[in-house]
Amino acid sequence: MKMIPKIEIDVVTIFPDMFKALTDFGVISRAIRDEIVHFKAHNLRDYTKDKHKVTDLYAYGGGPGMVMKPEPFFEFYDKYIEEKGTKPYIILTSPQGKHFDTGDAERLAQKKNLVFFCGRYEGIDERVMNIVDEELSIGDFVVTGGELPAMLMIDALLRFVPGVVGDIESVKNDSFYNTLLDHPHYTKPRNYRGMEVPEVLLSGNHKKIDEYRKKESLLRTILKRPDLFIKHDLDEFEKRVLVNIIRELISNEK
Ligand code: SAM
Repeated sequence: MKMIPKIEIDVVTIFPDMFKALTDFGVISRAIRDEIVHFKAHNLRDYTKDKHKVTDLYAYGGGPGMVMKPEPFFEFYDKYIEEKGTKPYIILTSPQGKHFDTGDAERLAQKKNLVFFCGRYEGIDERVMNIVDEELSIGDFVVTGGELPAMLMIDALLRFVPGVVGDIESVKNDSFYNTLLDHPHYTKPRNYRGMEVPEVLLSGNHKKIDEYRKKESLLRTILKRPDLFIKHDLDEFEKRVLVNIIRELISNEK
């Protein structure tokens, strides 16, 4: 029986093969194989109409660098609507966009039809902004193309699509989901080169383990990312754990 994918993601790029890094490994390759996700990387050149399949030209007004032509992006857009009968939600990968975060990943995972436009060179002709819904950046630095940014965003959002990651709870325990950083993780061996696994994790006492993990998560966030901690709304359990941390600190000082 054919599955209806939970989300359809299309990317438009001059380097579709780069997306094999995203689609051919791990949980995402499995989600594509199991048809939870439909994914297609389109070659922008296939949407050109000239003999030489030109996708970029010199900039009006002069200056260094090439600009990606608008026509192939609009051609892709028209064909998408014609074939699928629906308008996609289009994301432009751009260093000038809003910084992509876990909230964006969770929000975009609810969309049914996502498209990512990947720029190269100086970027894409500004008129393409007329069909773009949102401009997203991976941070305040510039990379050579939108393919890696698109892959990062797609990987992060697919983790929120039910069925992609085995246990959605593990996604919700990861860093940032609750504006806190994740606690540390350990596996065997119990003692490695003299470095011991914290005793509490071996105790089998789940109440104590939860408290330990919450304490570590709070401490890490306070020390590594105070900006996140300030935004975090403490629940009753976290307040209690925080009070215990402060008590411990005071008694250590005495
Ligand atoms: N001239 C552009 C500027 O300064 O804003 C930079 C163009 S960049 C060399 C080429 C393409 O890489 C962009 O069109 C975009 O698709 C992608 N890109 C570069 N840095 C990015 C970032 N931090 N986040 C998202 N996409 C980025």
